Amino acid sequence: MSQINSLLKYQTVDSKLLKIEREAASSEEWKNYSQAKSFLTKAPEKLEAMDAKAREMQLALEKLNKKYEEIFETLKDFENLDELVEGGADISFYKKNATQIGDKLKSIKSEINALVKVIKEADEEYQTLKKKTISVQKQYAEYSAIYQEYKKTKLAEMEEIKKELKKLAADLKPEVLKSYDTKRSERIFPIICPVQSDRCSKCGMELSISGKEKIAGGEVTECENCHRFLYKEQ
Ligand SMILES: [Zn+2]
Repeated sequence: MSQINSLLKYQTVDSKLLKIEREAASSEEWKNYSQAKSFLTKAPEKLEAMDAKAREMQLALEKLNKKYEEIFETLKDFENLDELVEGGADISFYKKNATQIGDKLKSIKSEINALVKVIKEADEEYQTLKKKTISVQKQYAEYSAIYQEYKKTKLAEMEEIKKELKKLAADLKPEVLKSYDTKRSERIFPIICPVQSDRCSKCGMELSISGKEKIAGGEVTECENCHRFLYKEQ
């Protein structure tokens, strides 16, 4: 019984701590700082990946250009076509061959153009990210200082509440406190709730038979659905 009252008292004080934590987590100071930090953590890896991709595409482009030149070279074989024709060669064969080569060149050229376009876009993207990284680096120092200042004021307040909680914790059994802390870290709050008509007042789950027995005996039970501590209000 006394555990219920102690838990309720503990939870009331703890809710003040939770309020500050939530305020801090949604504060501009924290958001700016953590966003800049996360951006700067990921940026080098992204830049490196983009750079590797650019090198890969450049290599592919060189290969295509080489292929184009090689095929273009074969057109030289047709320079002495006149002589061949005069010599009685079958002109239709050469015509067909030259057309095929021309088509091949066209297709490689369009592949080259497409790749050049992609490379240009990738480069622009790379430059944009690089510029942003430099500007965020500058901002980060500022955001970090502002956040540290904000944290200092909040920490003082939080320390006061923690001291109070420590005193109240003396009235709780260690296993109860441990269980409370676990639930708290799982973002369950409030952690202890009253029972209403044999149901959890938070999620509506009906108590099990053993749960009902515990409640009837003035003990604390746990909701099987949301895992909150449940008690009977006096
Ligand atoms: Zn529940």
